[in-house]
Amino acid sequence: MKDLSELLQSVPPSATIAVSDKARRLKAEGRDVIALAGGDPDFATPQHIVDAAVAAMREGDTHYPPAKGKPALLEAVAGKLERENGVQVEPSQVIVTPGGKWSLYIAIAAMVNPGDEVLILDPSWVSYGPIVTLNGATPVRVTLPSEDNFRVTQGLLREHVTEHSKVLMVNSPNNPTGRVLTLEEIDAIAAVAIEHDLYVISDEVYEHMVYDGAQHYSLAAEPGMAERTITANSFSKTYAMTGWRLGWLAAPEPIAKLAMKLQTQSVTSAVSFVMAGGIAALNGPQDCVQEMVDSYAERRKFMVDALEEIDGIECAPIEGAFYLFPKFPNSDKNSLELAGALLDQADIAATPGVAFGEAGEDHLRFTIATAMADLERAVERLEKVAPRLVA
Ligand code: PMP
Ligand code: GLU
Repeated sequence: MKDLSELLQSVPPSATIAVSDKARRLKAEGRDVIALAGGDPDFATPQHIVDAAVAAMREGDTHYPPAKGKPALLEAVAGKLERENGVQVEPSQVIVTPGGKWSLYIAIAAMVNPGDEVLILDPSWVSYGPIVTLNGATPVRVTLPSEDNFRVTQGLLREHVTEHSKVLMVNSPNNPTGRVLTLEEIDAIAAVAIEHDLYVISDEVYEHMVYDGAQHYSLAAEPGMAERTITANSFSKTYAMTGWRLGWLAAPEPIAKLAMKLQTQSVTSAVSFVMAGGIAALNGPQDCVQEMVDSYAERRKFMVDALEEIDGIECAPIEGAFYLFPKFPNSDKNSLELAGALLDQADIAATPGVAFGEAGEDHLRFTIATAMADLERAVERLEKVAPRLVA
């Protein structure tokens, strides 16, 4: 048989999805696994969103929609960006996608050529590197210092910029570190992007999940950034809609046009009646979002306090998103071995930090988008197993 795709063979499968699927499989086999691996809210999608989609389906909204998204949804996204983020875009700059991951994919595809470099802040979400590689460009990882809470500085960014640099991918609030970029860090990113004429992808899927007074800033709202920033977002986390597969991006017109070419030549569009749910989500009441965020805040406090009490675990109090990224300073195990040991010895599924890049080694990622009862059980098990994770 002839060779298969070298490009696809060169990238790993998504580690977050692999570990979540494994946890699901073990549970189905009867093992009492606590799944802290994947970032999937345990909440049901709010009822008014479900009702809108079901009504649309019943009313026959089951045909090809406009490939870019229903006009009402494009307008709702543009309205939300202005209202909540201080970002001005025309609805024509918005593309509705089947999930935020696809927004990132088509945005990168629209911008890069072979030989171009895309700067990725390490640790970063597992799919950033592979998305760049699959589009024929080269990911360049900017290692952020774990000991300085993964702070972003102009100096660090500049060290990695070359004449081939084209795009910088930013995610705040961050998966997996839980960091929310401060205004100083946002300014540093904007300064370097403008100085070196870089495009910036600002992945804001966790924008509402901020704690203890942390504030989310949208890069596209910064002076000089609108013309070089692609804002990517999703309904998955904000409205507990991971299974609906609905996201969007807002980009400068020429980028949006090219990204649309890929959308029409591949997936065509997001799902028609799912978009009706999206319109209800953006234009409807937002107290459901606050309720979920309040609950994550409570779980965050419980987990950070509980993990800090356990000998051998260090856990920074995250500022945003819904993942903890603890370290196991006394252990000789690497993060893959640690995740394996936790699953074997405590039936806890966690994502190994190295899946997020070298800077994530020595960490594990636990999601707190998991029912409180499961978090409590996880803590009990961690207390028992932590001494054994040493060496
Ligand atoms: N960006 C980040 C940082 C994520 O963690 C995820 C996964 N939820 C996404 C984008 C994409 O989410 P989705 O494809 O479910 O919209
Ligand atoms: N983004 C989530 C995570 O990091 C869901 C899985 C995925 O899309 O990678 O766990």
